Amino acid sequence: MTRSQPAVKDAVTAKNVDLSNCDQELVQFPGAIQPHGAMLIVDEPDYIIRQASANCEAIIGRSANDVLGKRVADVFAAAPRMLEQMQRMSLENGPVHVVRESFAGATNGVNIFAHRCGGVLILEVETIADPAAEPTTHLYSDVRETIAMLEACQGLQNFFDLAVERIRVFTGYDRVLAYKFAEDGSGHVMAEAIPEGLEPYLGLHYPASDIPAPARRLFGASWLRHLPDVSYEPVALVANGPSGTSAPIDMSYAILRSVSVMYSGYLKNMGVHSTMVMPLMKQGQLWGLISAMHHSGPRHVPYEARMAAEFLSHMLSLLMSGKEDADGYEQRLRMTAVADQLVEGLCRNPDLHVSLVAPDQPNLMSLIPSQGAAIAARGSFSLIGQTPAEDDVAALVDWLSKMNQPVFCTEQLSELYPAAGNFRSVASGVLAVRLSQQTRDFLLWFRPEHVEIVNWAGNPEKPVVVSESDGEVKLQPRRSFALWKESVTGRSEPWRQDEREAASALRQSILEIILSRAEEVDRVNRQLAEVNVELDSFAYAASHDLKEPLRGVHHLASFLKRGQEGRIDDEGRQQLETILKLTRRMDDLIESLLQYSRTGRVELMLETHDMDELVDEALMSCRRLFAERPADIRRPMPLGTIVCDRVRVREVLSNLISNGIKYNDKSQRWIEIGVERASPTRYYVRDNGIGISASAKDRIFDIFRRVHGEHEFGGGVGAGLTISRKTVERHGGRLWVDSLPDEGSIFYFTLGPERSA
Ligand code: ADP
Repeated sequence: MTRSQPAVKDAVTAKNVDLSNCDQELVQFPGAIQPHGAMLIVDEPDYIIRQASANCEAIIGRSANDVLGKRVADVFAAAPRMLEQMQRMSLENGPVHVVRESFAGATNGVNIFAHRCGGVLILEVETIADPAAEPTTHLYSDVRETIAMLEACQGLQNFFDLAVERIRVFTGYDRVLAYKFAEDGSGHVMAEAIPEGLEPYLGLHYPASDIPAPARRLFGASWLRHLPDVSYEPVALVANGPSGTSAPIDMSYAILRSVSVMYSGYLKNMGVHSTMVMPLMKQGQLWGLISAMHHSGPRHVPYEARMAAEFLSHMLSLLMSGKEDADGYEQRLRMTAVADQLVEGLCRNPDLHVSLVAPDQPNLMSLIPSQGAAIAARGSFSLIGQTPAEDDVAALVDWLSKMNQPVFCTEQLSELYPAAGNFRSVASGVLAVRLSQQTRDFLLWFRPEHVEIVNWAGNPEKPVVVSESDGEVKLQPRRSFALWKESVTGRSEPWRQDEREAASALRQSILEIILSRAEEVDRVNRQLAEVNVELDSFAYAASHDLKEPLRGVHHLASFLKRGQEGRIDDEGRQQLETILKLTRRMDDLIESLLQYSRTGRVELMLETHDMDELVDEALMSCRRLFAERPADIRRPMPLGTIVCDRVRVREVLSNLISNGIKYNDKSQRWIEIGVERASPTRYYVRDNGIGISASAKDRIFDIFRRVHGEHEFGGGVGAGLTISRKTVERHGGRLWVDSLPDEGSIFYFTLGPERSA
């Protein structure tokens, strides 16, 4: 037989008493029992009694010393029946009622319970209370009715409200409450049944130290803990035999186990005289407790009623798990429905800023319960509900981008990101979803600081009072139960698993929508490119073919003019003149169209060129214009080299330079050709001409669009800028203008992706 030898008292010293001591206290080895029964520790296989509680005389009519070293069969008249039952049963899982015995001393007889623990057989003998005082005849129907009512109950809260009410009626206890544990071991009273006049505990939060880890473990180990009289005098176990037989006994499963002084003191402080506690288990874990308390005096619940209550607590656990799952299922269904609506909205309009934060339709906040939400996408922010300021959100996004996490959440942001201390009242909790590793696009949900002031039943900073007397240190529960107002700072409600999953699923849907959009855009672009090529070919063929008959009309009109000289009157001559002018204009238009379509079709001859040389050539091609309209040419810096098509880019430069001179009514004209210092591939041509109004800025790039009359500023067909823009775009660049009317214009262009200096 191996027996552990735990150092019960060694765990606590004067210096190290703190919260963790409660967690270390070895409550399963109390060395004593409650006095309403007797305990016998029996060795197997010979069934010799090795330890006995000091109160044996009162319970079984023979003193502890009298029974020690004796066989069980010699002590109990019913021993053969008892031994036979013990052998048949598996006794590992807690006390099993094995026999009902009567003795001369015990008027109503005793119940004997047996189980094995730590390698010994533990027999517990409990006196039977007066059956007349505690009628148990209706127990079965009471329990059955209660279960039927609980089954029919909708929602977890209603379920517990009803459960505590029924258990109170059923056990006759003054107060019955349902207590739920949080992940950190703290808990709160979620339902309570009390008579009028008792101070309610409903909604109170308790620190983890109120039910320390060993106590939680023990509550989980047995289905019912009954303490008939909180002010009991513990009864010690007496040993008498060979060495080793007095080893501490593991009473984890014993019904008579003496409780921790912490626990009984705690109950006394609450004015509790008797309790019965039943664990609520979910998937093998302690989820919460049903705790019954009697304030008006001790209360011994008879064995039959305890059995019924134990059965009820099993049923509660089973039904409760189902109800909680149903609540969770309903919540998940709701989230799925909202997510579907959001995704539908995104399919209609993929702009996150429009589809996910609209206040009057399903938005991010309707998906996941939160007080505020934000979107950071394409460099801008949309905020909804209660959120940190936009600058704070931007800084938070910066911080989040450094983490490589698609989904991140915390309920204590300021612990990880101290700057969040400034806005913890709106965002102590953050759930963030990163849409892509390449961008800083995020969806964010915020939760405020959890109930800013929580009523803790005591001060969690100071869970025990240590008193030293006779040189011995004893753990004592705190004496006062005055409510402490304890601020729970910087902490929000936690993000649940299904909420995190919903956020992650939304991210996935958005990515799929973005991807399918990108594919769609790609497909349309390819189609457009094909159509453009076709259009270019068509324009080329059409303009080419138009040239021929136009030339014919022009020749005919010239011939008529020359041949009929003197025979036609002035009016006829003027009409011929107009025909000639119109054909010339039409020829110019067709020529421009040809050039435009050629720009889209010709293969670019890409080579590295010195931009200054290209400017020299462009200026040369404009020399006739300069002769007519002199202008100062400014070239403040060298332009460097670039890969481009020499002929095409020279045409762009000629067009911009000639426009700068043409559209200029100043007496001192000037043109400046340069490159931006901060962006060495962004060239510009600037003039001090007439400028362009804001409304005309985009129109000037349309083909054949002129802002001025046909004959103003030297005329033109209005195709130069269109062709120039097409040329730079074929190089992968851009062409745009900044201008102020009467002051001048500055045309910028790039010939590929921009570089910064
Ligand atoms: P065109 O010069 O043959 O009319 P463009 O396509 O080169 O055709 O220019 C289109 C129109 O843009 C011009 O008719 C003119 O109204 C306006 N524009 C172009 N360059 C300038 C400039 N530097 N300053 C003011 N207006 C300009």
